[in-house]
Amino acid sequence: MGQLGGFLKIERHGIPYKDPIERVELEPFKEFLQTRPDEELAAQGARCMECGVPFCHSGCPLGNLIPDFNDLVYHQDWQAAIVRLHATNNFPEFTGRLCPAPCEAACVLEIREGESVTIKQIELSIIDRAWQEGWVRPEPPQVESGRSVAVVGSGPAGLAAAQQLRRAGHSVVVFERDEAPGGLIRFGVPDFKIEKHVIDRRVQQLIDEGVELRYGIDVGVDISAEQLKDDFDAVVLAIGSRVPRDLDVPGRQLDGVHFAMEYLYGRNRWVAEQLGPQPPVAAPTDLPTITAEGKHVVVVGGGDTGADCVGNAIREGALGVTQLELLPEPPEHRPDESTPWPLWPQKFRLSYSIEEAREIGRGEQDFSVVTTHFSGIDGKVTTQHISEAQSEPPFAPLPGSERELQADLVLLATGFIYPETEGLVAELGCELDDRGNIAAPTYQSSQAGVFVAGDARRGQSLIVWAITEGRRCARMVEKYFAEVPV
Ligand SMILES: Cc1cc2nc3c(=O)[nH]c(=O)nc-3n(C[C@H](O)[C@H](O)[C@H](O)COP(=O)(O)OP(=O)(O)OC[C@H]3O[C@@H](n4cnc5c(N)ncnc54)[C@H](O)[C@@H]3O)c2cc1C
Repeated sequence: MGQLGGFLKIERHGIPYKDPIERVELEPFKEFLQTRPDEELAAQGARCMECGVPFCHSGCPLGNLIPDFNDLVYHQDWQAAIVRLHATNNFPEFTGRLCPAPCEAACVLEIREGESVTIKQIELSIIDRAWQEGWVRPEPPQVESGRSVAVVGSGPAGLAAAQQLRRAGHSVVVFERDEAPGGLIRFGVPDFKIEKHVIDRRVQQLIDEGVELRYGIDVGVDISAEQLKDDFDAVVLAIGSRVPRDLDVPGRQLDGVHFAMEYLYGRNRWVAEQLGPQPPVAAPTDLPTITAEGKHVVVVGGGDTGADCVGNAIREGALGVTQLELLPEPPEHRPDESTPWPLWPQKFRLSYSIEEAREIGRGEQDFSVVTTHFSGIDGKVTTQHISEAQSEPPFAPLPGSERELQADLVLLATGFIYPETEGLVAELGCELDDRGNIAAPTYQSSQAGVFVAGDARRGQSLIVWAITEGRRCARMVEKYFAEVPV
């Protein structure tokens, strides 16, 4: 695998990003990841060692065959590489762009921090090349099983389950309440991280394989749970974890304080309108327009969602953006006592959007900050009152550390607590686990024939986990079909 001793001779060169100012000001809705020439990628593949135990396999929830495809790229056998990559991952173009790469954190070379093989870059190059060369083709089943499955939700979990089930010969219908497919990848993650045609071409592959997608259908409202159970042999719930965590402080009700997803849905729809083509069904028209243009924006929450709010706000022309995090600033290097290799290190990572905000001089982030209340004029927020937070839960305000931030728009990106369980889930009678997710330890819920995958089952997580869950869930549906007579 790789070149003998390659890791000693060749330096790691990670994914190149466009210049921060260029990406904000010149190409605000274009993806900012760039590619390297083949020979450079081959050299990066050559750094992969012949590890006795490739820890990257277990770092990746999908169990991607990483040393195999690294070696194939080293030998420039791209067509074999995509076969190996697709063997475990339905949508490498999603993970290649968006995954935080726990595989790299688990790479044996990462024992010396910052040295891991640049696996995510290699993955992305393989799949982008495969699309360019026309190697990604529909793989319809050879034989029809006569069984049918309804998949509720077209996020990465639902799409992965649908593709696996269809390829196994079942008739699959995906119901989606939004106007277009992709779940949070389309309506949460901005175009500058993933352009939406990347989702559309993959969904077209599913359609060509025989998956039917129905948009604008809120299951539980437009179709009853009972009807779904009557019409299909099995149901997969891949409805995500969409109930946002609120900030229960005085002034929360003021105009101008919004959940992050209200803003991000609006921004993604706005970009889609500018770029076309238009979605299969019309987007809702009765939603509030939230804009950051010309405003002082505060983003509460230091994760991916918060970062995407910052990225959008500065592209819109916010006067200034401050991103606040309740927890203390993580250490610069992997803390070996709490998250030793090969675990995912709890260390500081500069987000792409704070890098951009700093470069254009319109934003910063702050740690150990707790919001005590909001105040405003004529019902509109103008000020966020904050204090330094104590370093341990419940992160109470430190007396004497009170400060004020000018805030015309506040975006709450404080996470999601569990899936929406009123309506569909309640109607189906599915039990919940002690965190409020749909209980499905083996992917089957408490209701026979009703399965669960993705954030709805495991709580708010990552795309790589959603795809993994979709695949595993599909296998459990298969097992159920094998055990239950037609
Ligand atoms: C802003 C943001 C940025 C993120 N960035 C990253 C990132 O960079 N990298 C990463 O790995 N992860 C990221 N994540 C997390 C990742 O997007 C999610 O973990 C992943 O999308 C979960 O997939 P899912 O299919 O389980 O659910 P979702 O993507 O939430 O999809 C659920 C789907 O179900 C539909 N649905 C729900 N209820 C119904 C119903 N009753 N009827 C019909 N349809 C229904 C929804 O409309 C939605 O399309 C991000 C999340 C957010 C919010």
